[in-house]
Order: sequence, then C-alpha cells, then structure tokens
Amino acid sequence: MTGFLEQTPGQLQTWFADRGLPEYRLRQVRQWLLQRRAESFEQMTDLPKPLRSQLAEEFSLLTSRIAAHRKSEDGTEKLLLELADGQRIECVLLRDDKQHRTVCISTQVGCAMGCVFCASGLDGLVRNLTRGEILEQVLRLQQLLDPEQRLSHVVVMGMGEPLANLDALLPALDAITDADGLGISARRITISTVGLPAAIRRLAELNCHYHLAISLHAPDDRLRSQLVPSGSKVGIATILAAADDYFTATGRRVTFEYVLLAGLNDRPEHARRLAELLRGRPALVNVIPFNPVPDLPYRTPAAAVTGQFVEILEQAGVNVKIRYRKGERIDAACGQLRRSEVTQGSP
Ligand code: SAH
Repeated sequence: MTGFLEQTPGQLQTWFADRGLPEYRLRQVRQWLLQRRAESFEQMTDLPKPLRSQLAEEFSLLTSRIAAHRKSEDGTEKLLLELADGQRIECVLLRDDKQHRTVCISTQVGCAMGCVFCASGLDGLVRNLTRGEILEQVLRLQQLLDPEQRLSHVVVMGMGEPLANLDALLPALDAITDADGLGISARRITISTVGLPAAIRRLAELNCHYHLAISLHAPDDRLRSQLVPSGSKVGIATILAAADDYFTATGRRVTFEYVLLAGLNDRPEHARRLAELLRGRPALVNVIPFNPVPDLPYRTPAAAVTGQFVEILEQAGVNVKIRYRKGERIDAACGQLRRSEVTQGSP
C-alpha cells in the first residue's frame, strides 16, 4: 500500500481530481492529518464514508510503529519508531519553560559522516529516510501533546546528515511550514549540518529562511579532520564561505556548533583560534558539552573548562550559548536510544 505522506501535492491533487472530488476534500484530509492529529482515515468524520473507505483502501496513513517511548522528568519525550522495513529511527519532543515545544527529527537511518564522537554514525549509513518518514516523526510527536498545545519549533538534528537528503527533507519541511499544514514558520526551523557547501548554497538559493547550524567542532582543519573525518576534503574556509553566502542570501545569522571534548578541542588556544576564525561574522557559537556515548573513549570537560572556553569567546566579542542536552537519562542524544536498544538485543 502507498503511504499518504509519500505523495507529492500534485499526485494527491490528481488522485482527488480523477475521482471528481472537489479540492476542499484534499484540504480536509490534510487538516485532519497535520492539524487535527488523526491516526486513521476513519476518524475524519466530516468526510463521506465511501471516501474514507476509498482512501483507506488505497493509502496507509501512518506507516511507523512506536517501538519505544521514553519520558524524562524535564518533559522530554523520545520515540523509537520502527519503519515499514523494520529499520528504527529516533525523534524527540523537548519542552521548555518558555512554552517552546520543539521536535528534533532524523533524516537518515544511521549516518555516513563518521563524526568520531557521535552515536548515529558508528554503524555507518543504512539509508535515507523518505519525505513521509521525516514528516511522520513530527506527527507522532505532535500526538504526544495535549490537544490545545501546538508545536513551536523543529530542529533537524536527529540521526543523519540532513543536507545529504535534501530531496526528501525539503518536501517534508514544506508540509511543516505550509499554512494548510503544520503552519510552523521557517524561522523556527533549524537544519544542522556537518557542512556540505554545495547543499548549503542550494538551500541559500531557495531563500526559504531556515535557520542553519553548522557543526564546526574545531578551529583548524587538522583537528577538524580528526573529529569530523568527512570534512577532511572540504576544509573550514570553504564551509565558512558557504555560510557567508547563506547569510547574504537569507539574512539569517548562522550558528556554529562546537561539541566540547575533554583534552581534545577544549583548550584556551582552541577558543582563541575559534574567535579569530569567526571575527567579523554575524555568527552564534553553540557550545555543546559532549554527551557521553557508551563504548566511546571521549569525556565531557569539567564545568570550569567549559566556562573558560565560553568566556574567551565572549571576551573576543563572539556570541555564545551553551547547549546542555535535555533528557540525558532517556538517551535523548541522537542515535543513542537506537543503539542501546540494538545492544540490549530487544525485539
Ligand atoms: N549531521 C548533522 C546533525 C547531527 S546532530 C550535523 O552534523 O550537524 C546535531 C549536533 O549534535 C551536531 O553538532 C553533532 O555533532 C552533535 N553531537 C553528536 N553526537 C554528540 C554527542 N555525543 N554529544 C554532544 N553533541 C553531539
């Protein structure tokens, strides 16, 4: 059976038109699914019953199964979704005291980028997610909210490299930003990338105002290629040039993510060189203390080391935020729950 969410808007329009159905019927179905959180066509009670049956015969609505659901005390909830082919992906709902309800979604099963400290890439890339599989994560997480609550932000920071799967990500984001869809503004959507210059420029040309975050993690190419092996051919200068183009095209300040790994990239000289690199750029640095991954030898720096790193950047005039990971007890960092389920050998 075909997944409803896999259809392009054009394909759906044709399906409805071929059956002599007025356009507003398709709008109703989309509203039920994206806004009213329906889990089956049967629930779409203002559609004629024959149409509901016809849709149900032709399309599956949601295609994943919730394989695990974890909640932490800080309001973070994580889903492990099993896809139709048995592959598993993670997605997270984060709540904060500013009434933000943010979802963090995956774009690939596994990841090919091989960042040495990241759980998602440890077993390589299995496959890209489809547009429907990306969107379905948002819908599944939205269903966890109270009926009167709405999602406010989306971060594409789960498993995988989003810019290596733009062809599926962009249509999923269209449904998320569309007023007839989830109606979340592009300004509230962050795409985090390891830094693929050609894809950054493609995104810039779309002029769609997504917030871009680039995972830098090191102030020079030598150190960066140790931590982010996929970046060894690209080089920081090329990535920064693409980031500058993104800013010029969209007017949106780029964020640079920097995972702090004790003894590796957390020394004062690293902070000074990072400040040097970003001088004169309208950038924000997101410092992320390493979130420990079982079986990996890396450590989280002491709070004082993180504090000093941040202070050096601030004194050099760089905008900095420290991002503490939420939901640590539920393995909320990307790829961790999937791995722990795999290593525990659960079904
Ligand atoms: N492929 C994208 C999305 C990855 S996840 C990218 O590289 O940006 C989002 C961020 O979490 C990235 O900056 C990534 O490097 C970081 N990250 C991955 N594993 C981590 C860990 N164990 N602790 C802290 N941050 C981690």
